[in-house]
Amino acid sequence: MAHNDPREVNEPDESEIEVGKPKSWAAGVPGVMHAMVPALTDMGVNRTRKTMLKLNHKDGFDCMSCAWPDPDHRKVFEFCENGAKAVTWEATPITVESDFWAEHSVSELRQRSEYWLGQQGRLTEPVYKPAGEDHYRPVSWDEAFSVLAKKLNGLESPDEAAFYTSGRTSNEAAFAYQLFVRAFGTNNLPDCSNMCHESTGWAMGQTVGIGKSTIAYDDFGKSDLIIIMGQNPGTNHPRMLTALEEAKDNGGSIVAVNPLPEAGLLRYKDPQKVKGVIGRGTDIADQFIQIRLGGDMALLQAVIKRVLDAEEANPGTVLDQQFIDQYCEGLDELKAHLDRIDEDAVLESTGLRVEEIDELADRYMKAESVIITWAMGLTQQKKGVAAIKEIINLLLLRGNIGKPGAGASPIRGHSNVQGDRTMGIWEQMPPAFLDAIEKEFSFSPPREHGTDSVQTIQKMRDGQMKVFVAMGGNLVAAISDTHAAEAAMENLEMSVQISTKLNRSHTVVGDEALILPTMGRTEIDRQASGIQFVSVEDTVCAVHPSWGQVEPVAPNLLSEVAIVSRLAAATLGEKVDVDWVGFEANYDLVREHISHVVEGCEDYNQRIRQEGGFVLANGPRDSRTFPTATGKAMFTVNDLEHVECPPGRLILQTLRSHDQFNTTIYGHDDRYRGIKKGREVIFVNPEDLTEMGLADGQYVDIHGEYTDDTERILHNFRVVAYPSPRGCAAAYYPEANVLVPLGAVADGSNTPVSKHVVIRLEPARVSQDAGTSATV
Ligand code: SF4
Repeated sequence: MAHNDPREVNEPDESEIEVGKPKSWAAGVPGVMHAMVPALTDMGVNRTRKTMLKLNHKDGFDCMSCAWPDPDHRKVFEFCENGAKAVTWEATPITVESDFWAEHSVSELRQRSEYWLGQQGRLTEPVYKPAGEDHYRPVSWDEAFSVLAKKLNGLESPDEAAFYTSGRTSNEAAFAYQLFVRAFGTNNLPDCSNMCHESTGWAMGQTVGIGKSTIAYDDFGKSDLIIIMGQNPGTNHPRMLTALEEAKDNGGSIVAVNPLPEAGLLRYKDPQKVKGVIGRGTDIADQFIQIRLGGDMALLQAVIKRVLDAEEANPGTVLDQQFIDQYCEGLDELKAHLDRIDEDAVLESTGLRVEEIDELADRYMKAESVIITWAMGLTQQKKGVAAIKEIINLLLLRGNIGKPGAGASPIRGHSNVQGDRTMGIWEQMPPAFLDAIEKEFSFSPPREHGTDSVQTIQKMRDGQMKVFVAMGGNLVAAISDTHAAEAAMENLEMSVQISTKLNRSHTVVGDEALILPTMGRTEIDRQASGIQFVSVEDTVCAVHPSWGQVEPVAPNLLSEVAIVSRLAAATLGEKVDVDWVGFEANYDLVREHISHVVEGCEDYNQRIRQEGGFVLANGPRDSRTFPTATGKAMFTVNDLEHVECPPGRLILQTLRSHDQFNTTIYGHDDRYRGIKKGREVIFVNPEDLTEMGLADGQYVDIHGEYTDDTERILHNFRVVAYPSPRGCAAAYYPEANVLVPLGAVADGSNTPVSKHVVIRLEPARVSQDAGTSATV
């Protein structure tokens, strides 16, 4: 089915935006309707049945949306509203046909919204935009690989190219990709993790020796207390609500620490249970702590101080001294540091009352097993690394790592973002991994660190990066400082996107540009040796196979593994001794090499074929082994830094709506927050509005207030009075990325600080009818 007529896509008119009351519960029957109606409409009954009944099943395919894990005992429907939207978005039979490229110039496509671009359907053939031209044109795969290989081989240095990866990429494709990139001669492997959980990786790596969750899926159901910080499960990983409900059913309690009272943190109505359909559902948070943006570290320090004080008052009754003595280091330094904690500064930073902090500390000390989970609300703060180190401090005090129902659990955003790191997608892979590559493939991979996402954009801007290849994703939309990122991308000699559908990154391009269309997870992957499966790793380190279920949407599509293999062969020739043809023909060969190179993946081919796959070894979780520099889990000392909000200003966070996944916009409603038919809104506390002389429903310009010379303004956003903490506002990502300077990054991780944007609001200078735009 071709879909070339843009008139069939309804671009929403922001002036028709409707604002209602936020919801106080998530999912339920409306969630099912929002999932299934678009699926049936877009894909029809047969394709819907073939995909949805195999989504997240052991013999099916892994959801390409978030990285939430699967339970061992699965139901018929093992997906959520957002998983169904992601499948519908990918498995749509609508395609971009050859004549589309002559009809639409790149300049014209650039004027289109992310939503419109996505609605054009699946990409089906490679297209190339020569230098100086404004149109892509279809080319053969051979021509596409030849153009790209020639460009790469003509660079003065391999470091003039960067190779980005999104969390869509399978383990097999990721391993082959990083192998090609390192054989080509660079470690420039930026990825989406640089923008999300990089702070987690650094904090946990330095304290417990592994930058991953220390729990298994079943631990949720065994936990006495789950503390959820900086995270909105109802929208970003909805099936987590099922795990939380199970924890409550088993007697556990839940504390939610978040600036906004998100529906999914309050109450959940499971549409697969009677109490979720006709009953009230389950109240999720026993305590909701509405914290100011950036206040988490202060809260954690205050709770730790209370735990230490309680131990001092009643020695031997609060801390797990045996665990600390046997496995940890640094407690004395932590105690000395927190002796000087300033309670007034804590209250100022958090915006909380003393009793709220006391209650949390009390809950923590009464619980025998505690899990703390977190997401971007922490990682994208300026002190995100330090805040996560305080989570580890708190857990270590009572031995809450390496026992049932306890641990640290970062929740990853994109399906295989964690697996891609395991497979070597990182600009700073440790020497042991590079040694293993050298031994397995008999070439010397480069040892100097490559560039992360922010550094890659900076090098593009400065003319030091000439070629950019993206294995999925939409970097110009995902990263901060949109205009700087777009200007940098246009500074390239060549940009290349390996994609399933169109997005903004196909319209903001280098002199030359290529789009290489790839198969999706839903599709049957036939190669010379037969039908292939790929594998992925979820947020709790479980690795499992993913089998496509429907015929590819076009016969000319290549899998990601095939694209990497052919590109490598075209670029490297005989330079390295790797059987790229064999990689494409049979993914077992890729997995055989993974077995030899990637720690913990021994016998990969055999273990991935066990029912449900296998769980990667994890020292802290399995045996309280901490592979840090000292072999001990480290208590750390972190200096508190108050998030300053100058008078008359607000701290803004960017966030997702319920109708989007990362930069993919499925629709223009955010029903849990009461928003319909639009995205250009800013959520502000009503008392702040009064103080600023503004009103709900008014249109404002949002001025970014960083101290560089650039004035960043988002025009014409509708104010929505919302129950956010005083001084804290929120607006949707990626629209608000324009307000975050490229150099505004978290200490220690270089992650853009999208949860710490100082802004001021002014009445809109142009009329609402003039539309919204950003000025830099
Ligand atoms: S929770 Fe995440 S992985 Fe599971 S179905 Fe929903 S979007 Fe997909």
